[in-house]
Amino acid sequence: MGTCLLCETHDSAGGYLCLACTKATVVRLECLPDLYEGLLPFLAPSMAVAQGRSGKGGPAPLPVHTEILDLRGPGGMVGVVEDHLAAVHQERGMRRLAPVGSVETRLKSAVAGLLASMPWISVSWPEAGTFAGEIRDLTRSVRSIIAPEPAVDRGERLGNCPAMDSAGVLCGAVLWLPRGGKAVRCEWCDTRYPPYVWGQLKVWMAEDEKARAA
Ligand SMILES: [Zn+2]
Ligand SMILES: [Zn+2]
Repeated sequence: MGTCLLCETHDSAGGYLCLACTKATVVRLECLPDLYEGLLPFLAPSMAVAQGRSGKGGPAPLPVHTEILDLRGPGGMVGVVEDHLAAVHQERGMRRLAPVGSVETRLKSAVAGLLASMPWISVSWPEAGTFAGEIRDLTRSVRSIIAPEPAVDRGERLGNCPAMDSAGVLCGAVLWLPRGGKAVRCEWCDTRYPPYVWGQLKVWMAEDEKARAA
């Protein structure tokens, strides 16, 4: 009986990682070589980068080239993966092979080594949580460069959901009109706003806005 070190849910199987987190970690590891490759086009100044970064809104764009160079460099993605593999090999008393070849080749072979050890990692390695967390963060940060958050696809921000529950509490979640979409649905309370109530919707939103300001 144990608790998964990554998602902290109770895991009746009794390892260090639950089945879901083990599977997710395997998928993330398998994606790493593709993510590594996917970063390449972003090294060259291009429209794709400019649009991808600016569409996100929020904080100012990071100095993207340095970030990508670091991730693709010897200490970046490959460094993280090789460090974990070395730790696994040491823990299991296995012979350590010096990494050879290009960064890409090294990344692929370190990923393969970790995948081969995944059953042991999830059941027997007390560092499994830290390891799985770092792999998750790594895939997330690379993905955020290659495919920025879906904010671009959420469409137009309409305002706050004016639906009230039976206790008279205002929902207030942000409503989005999907690009080219004909229906607005609150992702939080599931209230649907078909086009014929959009006029009314604006009025409700304005009223709520006024009430909030007062
Ligand atoms: Zn878990
Ligand atoms: Zn709502």
